[in-house]
Amino acid sequence: MPLTNADLHCHSDVSDGTLTPEALAARAHAQGVELWSLTDHDELGGQHRAREAALALGMDYLSGVEISVTFASETVHIVGLGFDIDDAALREGLAATRSGRRERAQEMADSLAKVGIHDAFEGALRYVSNPDLISRTHFARHLVESGVCPDTYTVFRRYLTQGNPGFVPHRWARLGDAVRWVREAGGVAVIAHPGRYRYTPTEEYALFTEFIAHGGRGVEVMTGSHSTAEQARYVDTALEFGLLASRGSDFHSPAESRTELGRLPALPGALTPVWLELAPRIRRAALVLP
Ligand code: AMP
Ligand code: MN
Ligand code: MN
Ligand code: MN
Repeated sequence: MPLTNADLHCHSDVSDGTLTPEALAARAHAQGVELWSLTDHDELGGQHRAREAALALGMDYLSGVEISVTFASETVHIVGLGFDIDDAALREGLAATRSGRRERAQEMADSLAKVGIHDAFEGALRYVSNPDLISRTHFARHLVESGVCPDTYTVFRRYLTQGNPGFVPHRWARLGDAVRWVREAGGVAVIAHPGRYRYTPTEEYALFTEFIAHGGRGVEVMTGSHSTAEQARYVDTALEFGLLASRGSDFHSPAESRTELGRLPALPGALTPVWLELAPRIRRAALVLP
């Protein structure tokens, strides 16, 4: 069981990925994923479709979401897994987290206009399939397509990030609220890609201890965002804090993502995979007999 090929972090066009939930399920299955979760940003609109598609392919499924949180002046992502998709408090919390994205996008476009990049709001909108979820990724795609930058990696280095044109500070959900929404809906909360946050050691320690105090249970160790050194570092963190370990590619798009679905290293045997804890919440694909 610990060697299950689980991929518990990726995005469809319901948030800032480019594939539909069905196409993503097919791709995950083709890559050998056995247990899958779609974790769109702040949004559950793809969950029923993802689950149906996974089960039809014979792939087990866990419900998923990636919640945007503000903690110590930095954006942190909390992945929720194995919760009740129809939980009302979780849905309300996510709707509140999504609200304000459109105004923020207008301000991002105003900021870009000041450095001579005009009509970026309209440009980004052309890449958006869910009007509730305009994200920096959609701006990045527009800036690549319109020739401002050669790729999305360069966009995030020159624009849309702190200190650069197009960056607009934003208040997301509170850490304690995000963890509570997931937990009270029957799921497990996981700190996504901890290696990405620009925290001091003291701030990072505060993130982990407060997360655990709120009832958070897991940490992503294997993620497309971690270097080999970061993978090793968060193996130690998971053991130190007694956290369950997760594995997810954070796949967004065949053209943009460097990590393919289901292709990360397996979790080391010393760690407890989060999916062992979630076994009763896994929707099992029917065994099809010949
Ligand atoms: P938002 O929720 O609108 O702030 O957008 C965040 C999304 O932008 C992330 O989920 C990533 O998909 C993308 N992103 C953020 N930083 C980078 C980066 N440095 N390189 C590539 N994509 C990034
Ligand atoms: Mn994203
Ligand atoms: Mn993330
Ligand atoms: Mn993600």
